[in-house]
Amino acid sequence: MSWFLKGIKRGIKTEKFPKEEPLDVAPWSTELKGEGKVDCPTNAIDNGWEKEKCIFCRRCFPEYKPTGNVNIFGVEKNNTTFKRSFYIYPIDVGTCGGCNLELKLLTSPQYDMSRFGIFFTNTPRHADALLVMGIMTEGMREALMRAYEAIPEPKLVILLGTCAISGGLLGLPPEIKGDVKIAGCPPNPYTILKALMEAKGD
Ligand code: SF4
Ligand code: SF4
Repeated sequence: MSWFLKGIKRGIKTEKFPKEEPLDVAPWSTELKGEGKVDCPTNAIDNGWEKEKCIFCRRCFPEYKPTGNVNIFGVEKNNTTFKRSFYIYPIDVGTCGGCNLELKLLTSPQYDMSRFGIFFTNTPRHADALLVMGIMTEGMREALMRAYEAIPEPKLVILLGTCAISGGLLGLPPEIKGDVKIAGCPPNPYTILKALMEAKGD
């Protein structure tokens, strides 16, 4: 049977999230809760759990355990101008590839970000937001700033993943201020989707 006929037979596979709870969450990409001092390689548990520093290495288990809460992002600035259509230009300034893979999943039938008017564009001139992944590598420094400058105002900057927010375990974060910070290593697709929706004022 062709993929087209198989699709018709199976019907719609897109989840009802965020109207309904996520169907199947990978626990070690959600909020951690617990108590006590642990040997955390990124000092994410110095003073409570800091989602921006956690690389989800599980070294703190069983003192700290995942709760299943996917809302581990922060939106400092949103823009309702983008409510009906929100075009994102992703840039990899030094990733391991993990953040890229989870981000790409948003275009799959399961998550289908286009139902919320969220799209990718491959030119910064057409973008509403710059989405940055990875630690700051020397070779991408100029490309990052040129992409930022090419995006017309108003624009948002989204930092995706622990590397982009805090440098994680590997290095230093990109030298750019984030309006939206999406924690995770890599972030869960549910977390990314909800953060993008809030960024465009949904
Ligand atoms: S999972 Fe790893 S990085 Fe995250 S808080 Fe626990 S020990 Fe630290
Ligand atoms: S945050 Fe984690 S998954 Fe994303 S680029 Fe860094 S190491 Fe890879």
